[in-house]
Amino acid sequence: MPEKDLYAILGVPRNASQEEIKRAYRKLARRYHPDVNPGNREAEEKFKDISEAHEILSDPEKRKLYDEFGMAGLQAGFDAERARAYEQWQRAQQESARSFRGGFGRFESFEDIFSDLFGERARPGPRPGADLETEVEIDLLDAIRGHTMEISLQRPEICSACQGSGEDTAGAIACSECLGSGRIQVARGPVRFSRTCPRCAGSGRISTRACPSCAGAGQTVRTERLQVRVPPGVDDGSRVRLPGKGAPGAHGGPPGDLYLRVRIRPHPLLERRGDDLYMNVPISVLEAVAGAAITVPSPTGGNLRVQVPAGSQSGKLLRIRGRGVPHLHGGGAGDLYLRLMIHVPAQDTPAVREAARALEEHMLPHPREQLKL
Ligand SMILES: [Zn+2]
Ligand SMILES: [Zn+2]
Repeated sequence: MPEKDLYAILGVPRNASQEEIKRAYRKLARRYHPDVNPGNREAEEKFKDISEAHEILSDPEKRKLYDEFGMAGLQAGFDAERARAYEQWQRAQQESARSFRGGFGRFESFEDIFSDLFGERARPGPRPGADLETEVEIDLLDAIRGHTMEISLQRPEICSACQGSGEDTAGAIACSECLGSGRIQVARGPVRFSRTCPRCAGSGRISTRACPSCAGAGQTVRTERLQVRVPPGVDDGSRVRLPGKGAPGAHGGPPGDLYLRVRIRPHPLLERRGDDLYMNVPISVLEAVAGAAITVPSPTGGNLRVQVPAGSQSGKLLRIRGRGVPHLHGGGAGDLYLRLMIHVPAQDTPAVREAARALEEHMLPHPREQLKL
């Protein structure tokens, strides 16, 4: 239970009078009242805290308990007599323990003692397992088209033979400390009470042998193969969630989730900008001059038929709507831009030179005539 400072909540000193407390409460309640702050959750929480602080501090009996024991003193079933007797004994213990090391017994912590004062030892509740994250690398084309991959996981699991206790339950015998009852009687100075047996943690049975399945670790490691579907349109850094594949929970809690962070390997011919794709497409000199219907492979699969307009220059972009990366959330897709790149013949022969020279006569004006910085 987190300790609340009721005085700080009302903004008054610890020795504030009843009148000061009442005044501070009225002022804050007016400011944070839900009627004045409709729909404001923060104000609502604040109003609850203010009301609680006022309720306790304006009642002399409750205020006394709070001052002495904190919020724990206000819980149902709290035994102030026992708590005081214990504190008295503890002070005496501390005085006399100066000369000997380790003055406190082995189970003693403030929390232990308090749960004993309430008659019930706080047992650890179910705790969910942690979420885990790991990285996977896929090709850009697989990110565009969607991809099913197999991954193998080394996952720790609660040992099924011993349910995580690490003990050989088959060979368990009655606990010698509590004689199988699970509870022991403890004397703390003037106080006597029963508490959960620390030797067997209340089960009443103990085992002297380690669990043969997990050698006492309480966990086993299992290799699990998983088919993972990476959806089309996934971006670099996207996370794919695999529910229940994280760390195992404790005390019956559910396992956490596993997140795969997707890293995308770049493609030598494709460039991704958001959901748009840019692809360099080589064309011949004749195709650029006369125009042509050409066929290019499509990043989303199959081929595309595209019309190159007559008189196209190198670097010209042809936009093809809806042929880019599919949108990850919601339908549709980005666009595909084809960047035309005019290629000249690779071989330098007299015939090629003759053809190029004939072409040169038509380069009017010369391409660099206008080039200025
Ligand atoms: Zn085991
Ligand atoms: Zn026991």
